[in-house]
Amino acid sequence: MEAEKKKYKVVYNRSNCIGVLTCSSFYPERWAINKDDAKADLVAGQEDPAQPGIWTLEFTEEELERFKASAEVCPVNVIHIYDLETGEKVV
Ligand code: SF4
Repeated sequence: MEAEKKKYKVVYNRSNCIGVLTCSSFYPERWAINKDDAKADLVAGQEDPAQPGIWTLEFTEEELERFKASAEVCPVNVIHIYDLETGEKVV
């Protein structure tokens, strides 16, 4: 089904997160506060073994607006979104 196809990828530089959690207020299902270091955890994301501190998750069109909103409000700009097909940066 087209609607379920993963079309985008979020790339999150967790190392540079300052823990303000604005992202979470825009998309709490995907950004959770970590009790140990107070940074955001990308729910169901995976850490890139080649780049420690960089977390990624592929997602469908359905989640685009909420991911975009959370990326746009991040004060330190550590959340970015890429189009999987074209490789273009969306945010
Ligand atoms: S908004 Fe940015 S700095 Fe704040 S918790 Fe989310 S990722 Fe971290």
